[in-house]
Amino acid sequence: MAKLYFKYGAMGSSKTAQALITKFNYEERGMSVWLIKPSTDDRDGANVIRSRIGLESEAEVIGPEDDICRLYYPRGRKDVIISDESQFFTPAHIEQLRKLVDEEDIPVLCFGLRTDFQTKLFPGSQRLFELADSITEIKTICDCGSKATVNARIGTDGMVVTEGAQVMLGGNDSYVAMCHACWKKRIEREKSLRNQMRIDL
Ligand SMILES: [Zn+2]
Repeated sequence: MAKLYFKYGAMGSSKTAQALITKFNYEERGMSVWLIKPSTDDRDGANVIRSRIGLESEAEVIGPEDDICRLYYPRGRKDVIISDESQFFTPAHIEQLRKLVDEEDIPVLCFGLRTDFQTKLFPGSQRLFELADSITEIKTICDCGSKATVNARIGTDGMVVTEGAQVMLGGNDSYVAMCHACWKKRIEREKSLRNQMRIDL
């Protein structure tokens, strides 16, 4: 039986590169791949998945209201479905992917983040944890050498942002993966720095 896979990791853990390498490996064996991504990730323009090390591939963009099953059937039989940025899928999307695994016996590999910048699960990731047959962590390290688990949002002032929307569209903030201890320490340090600046004024 085919399986639903969730391969999660923090920012910078080479999830995208691994998704694209997996696609290449399938295609090298003459198998057909349907590469998809949710529409909320528009960093790379409309329908391209691009990794930091330069790999890229065209992907079908899934809108929040799209039914993935309905999009799948007209394309004909595929050997595997691979998705990147899977945390941005809705829970309904994950249920549709689960249905394709069960009814079409097609493996679905979902790459994505576990949690947001406030260490909360994304709804899509939560549903994947609930429904996936196989869950694996793609590890990356913090500057201190520990495993990075937090996706810190860094504001334009260079400080860690702790409040705001889960998905910030069109924002200029960036993200850095760090361990929980370093994330906490940095927030405390920057809080006292801010207070110091206030006193100086
Ligand atoms: Zn650390």
